[in-house]
Amino acid sequence: MSQVITVNGVECHPIVEKCEGCDRTMEQDGVKYCRSYPLPERKWSQKVCNFATHMKLEVDKGGKVNINPLKASKRAARGR
Ligand code: SF4
Repeated sequence: MSQVITVNGVECHPIVEKCEGCDRTMEQDGVKYCRSYPLPERKWSQKVCNFATHMKLEVDKGGKVNINPLKASKRAARGR
C-alpha cells in the first residue's frame, strides 16, 4: 500500500470509510490516519472500533447489538 507511513517505527495505514467523523484522525500529505491505532481497518473488522469517538456499540434490552452514532452535542454534554 503506497499510503502507509511509518511513525516511530510503526507502520500506519490510512483510515477507512467508517472512521470518517472520528476525532482521532489526523491528516498528513492529504491522507488521513488514526492517532490512536495504526491499522484502522483492523479495528473495524469487529463490529465497531472501540476507540471511535463518533460511534459506539450499544446492547438493547432484548440483547440486540446496535451501532449508534454519537452526536457531537452529546459528547460535549458528557464532558461537562
Ligand atoms: S479511533 Fe477508530 S474510528 Fe477513530 S480514526 Fe482510529 S480507527 Fe478510526
